[in-house]
Amino acid sequence: MSPAITAVIIAVIALVAQLIFQRHLTSKYDYQCDNCGQRFNLTPLTASVAPHRFGGSKYVRCPHCGVRSWVSPVPKQ
Ligand SMILES: [Zn+2]
Repeated sequence: MSPAITAVIIAVIALVAQLIFQRHLTSKYDYQCDNCGQRFNLTPLTASVAPHRFGGSKYVRCPHCGVRSWVSPVPKQ
């Protein structure tokens, strides 16, 4: 197998694993906007591609106020 194909396969597996992991997270957590305080849900795809950092914060655009910021996960009620 050529290195290019191997790299593509690894990337696809990593993306699928990430999507499954994010689907699990987004089913349990909402995210709270730092700017307006509203809570909102992320789709697994958005959660997968958004920049994130240790602790689960994600850098996304808030659907309520439209501001991009780091949002923290909050357990769904
Ligand atoms: Zn907001």
